[in-house]
Amino acid sequence: MNDTNYAQLAKEAIRHATGIEPSASPLLTSLGYHLTIHSQPRHERLMRLGFEATVAKLPFSIRYPITNLMKKIRNPKSTVPIASMKDLFGYNLVRDLIKNDIPKFFYEGSKGVIVLTHDVDNLVGWNMLPEALKDLRSRHLPATFNFLTRADYPLDYTVLDRLATAGHEIGLHGSTHDIALAFRSEASILQTLRRGRTALQERPSGFRSPAFSVSHALFKALDGAGFVYDSSIQVASTFYHSTSFPFPYRLPGFDLIELPLTFNDDMVVRDAPLSDQGSLRVFSELLDDTLAVGGVFVANIHPHNLVGRMGLYESILELVQEKKSAGTRVTTAGQIVDIFGSRLAQ
Ligand SMILES: [Zn+2]
Repeated sequence: MNDTNYAQLAKEAIRHATGIEPSASPLLTSLGYHLTIHSQPRHERLMRLGFEATVAKLPFSIRYPITNLMKKIRNPKSTVPIASMKDLFGYNLVRDLIKNDIPKFFYEGSKGVIVLTHDVDNLVGWNMLPEALKDLRSRHLPATFNFLTRADYPLDYTVLDRLATAGHEIGLHGSTHDIALAFRSEASILQTLRRGRTALQERPSGFRSPAFSVSHALFKALDGAGFVYDSSIQVASTFYHSTSFPFPYRLPGFDLIELPLTFNDDMVVRDAPLSDQGSLRVFSELLDDTLAVGGVFVANIHPHNLVGRMGLYESILELVQEKKSAGTRVTTAGQIVDIFGSRLAQ
């Protein structure tokens, strides 16, 4: 893509998200660059492919602790600076544009959007589902659950039916937790995605890549497999290239809509790591900043991280419920993408 294409991408993304037509500026070119797909650097791609060729062949129960160990090696001091929205390029660009106006956004009337997603990575997470569902039900909050189709938990269709009946969304998180999925051939990714959808009875319209691996081939394959959205690019990751833009948007050349992830619980529970109170503070700050520009706050909470931390989950849900009472829309990723998609079609 050249500078004109980057600027065009950013201009459309801002217009569709905020209703404001930004005037031409070099800042748009920079934002467009942020929004495009940036695959992980070569050394990380090779490391992940190597991991999948060796450790991933081991039983799931062993594989998971080794993955955590690798992350400890990457982050030995276990202290990761957590990005603030106020430091983000795209966020500030939007904030300057909307000034203090009441944002007039694509989802009409609501003061921003909250989407709660849950990546079910393993049996521990699967076993936490009843507790998480109970807490969501008592607060009337819908959520998205992304499943693996060949992990160490059984895909019990009665559980999936119950989820869907309760108004929750079923998304795909992959087959095994292949952390190098996006670095495989497009044909191979396509096969994984098609099999995954079939295993989930064609229910998923959305995808979250295991360990956030992204590439052009992945996005092409998602389009080919009929997915409507991807939610694997982050808004403010410490490790990976981030959009810095807390809104959905469409990449040129794809049908797929990108719904970037704003909050990943691993960041506060594992990488930083913070106390429950500290984690809640980070969640709350990112949420408030996102809602201040009428953005879409997409949180990922791994059910396996809830073991011994149900109190944190409940505090998060209480906060979400408070925002909902104050006029913020709480919905599934699929629903907000549908609303956004119909706006794009206008
Ligand atoms: Zn995962």
